Amino acid sequence: MTNTKQSTNKADLELDLEHCSGCQACLEMCPEVFGWDDNLDKPVLKESSGPRDQVLQVAAFCPMDCIRVAGWKRDW
Ligand code: SF4
Repeated sequence: MTNTKQSTNKADLELDLEHCSGCQACLEMCPEVFGWDDNLDKPVLKESSGPRDQVLQVAAFCPMDCIRVAGWKRDW
């Protein structure tokens, strides 16, 4: 029997904020996954995974290429 515990509609993601401009687009586009750290003035992840379609859209939109989604590589 295969393990089907992990939903295929979710994708794991990470932030690499070295070049983050603080534009807050990720927060506006997907507030259920992205929060905001007022001290750092940078986004934080509320969840380590999110709806695949939505996080891919945010990752593709991020102007500074800060959002890494498991199994997806940005096509520059
Ligand atoms: S969209 Fe990208 S550059 Fe803008 S705040 Fe989010 S992680 Fe930073």
